[in-house]
Amino acid sequence: MAMRADLNRDHLVPPTGIRNLGILAHVDAGKTTVTERILYLTGAVHRRGEVHEGTTVTDFDPLERDRGITIFAAAVSCLWDGHRINLIDTPGHVDFSDEVERSLRVLDGAVAVFDAVAGVEPQSESVWRQADRYGVPRIAFVNKMDRAGADLDTAAASIRERLRVTPLVVQLPIGREDGFTGVVDLLRMRSLVWDAGRDTVTEGPVPEALGDEARRRRRLLEETVAELHPTALEEFCARPEISAPTLTAALRDLTLRGEAVVVLCGSAYRNRGVEPLLDAVVAYLPAPPDVPPVRAAWDGPEQERPEQERPADPAAPFAALVFKVHAAPTGRLTYLRVYSGTIRRGDVVLDAGARRTERIGRILRVQADRHTETDRATAGDIVAVAGVKAARAGATLCAPGAPLVLEPPVTASPVVSVA
Ligand code: GDP
Repeated sequence: MAMRADLNRDHLVPPTGIRNLGILAHVDAGKTTVTERILYLTGAVHRRGEVHEGTTVTDFDPLERDRGITIFAAAVSCLWDGHRINLIDTPGHVDFSDEVERSLRVLDGAVAVFDAVAGVEPQSESVWRQADRYGVPRIAFVNKMDRAGADLDTAAASIRERLRVTPLVVQLPIGREDGFTGVVDLLRMRSLVWDAGRDTVTEGPVPEALGDEARRRRRLLEETVAELHPTALEEFCARPEISAPTLTAALRDLTLRGEAVVVLCGSAYRNRGVEPLLDAVVAYLPAPPDVPPVRAAWDGPEQERPEQERPADPAAPFAALVFKVHAAPTGRLTYLRVYSGTIRRGDVVLDAGARRTERIGRILRVQADRHTETDRATAGDIVAVAGVKAARAGATLCAPGAPLVLEPPVTASPVVSVA
């Protein structure tokens, strides 16, 4: 058992260190495999003891400890390089159901997974459009680079044509199809090669045979970024050498504005390419404070809308959205996206729409192979709580002294607004 003081350790991740992430994909593109690899890699770090969260492993539901089941939880939390990545499950079939609306609403960024042979398929196109409507910043992962016929350039071209967005390819594959062994990182001009059989990746210089091609692609990337980003252009002109951090910052801006999409590649199945994908999630996708603050629901005239916003600040009044309710064998689990403030076990909160109070029981994080209990959740975070008796998916839970109903997401279905 961990010491009680240890319960707080996982809160060392501030709102700027959180990434609430969805993985969007066409059926069969590899969403499950990518998710499993992410959990494996981040879980492996934990097992090697490099990261010690110090949280108590709760005896929750032995069945759900099985990773195969846990990855279907509404949200799974993992740590990568000091950042907390909350993976939010997005239903596979993208329609306009409330469930899809809610899952898209609670994530701040997404990884769109494509098949390196098929490129953009019709279903990926509809997922992409849906994410456009919610203004969700995205990066792209071209998976299955090991397959016969896999080609990153063709996949990037199909992103440009079918999704009408500029692909910013930041890697050059090393080897083709079955011989795909690694990538050149075009920002740092370093190679990453995965060791067959072992889960290790070795960083090194750009292979000589690929030097010219890597430099050509790096220049192309710089030119495309400079065209899309005039401020970056000024900065670029002022320097003879464009540093990796400068280019990363420009790419991040473009991603947050939805003006282009950073493209990486790999083979999740062969465990290649997932570490740089996680690095890219941290580098390019927004943290909760980077997205506009949530607002209170308002169905009156826009010009009379009260200025009721909630910033992603742990010290602001508490407000959270219930995005999923799960009947676990051990009791009702309510998944919350906390938008502002802090909640602790035992707190009484208001379900503002239903005008009913609820008491927060245990606060849990669902991790790769277990649940851990934590003593509080703060702005930007995603957790599951026990003890909430009646609040439904879509409800706002808030501090009783600062009631509000959060603005419903952009939606095609009728919006029921509760004053
Ligand atoms: P999902 O439907 O998007 O969740 O896709 P899955 O992750 O279930 O993958 C669909 C199929 O593609 C499975 O048979 C996987 O084993 C396979 N697959 C996933 N990633 C790769 C990859 O990188 N290379 C190859 N060759 N197959 C892959």
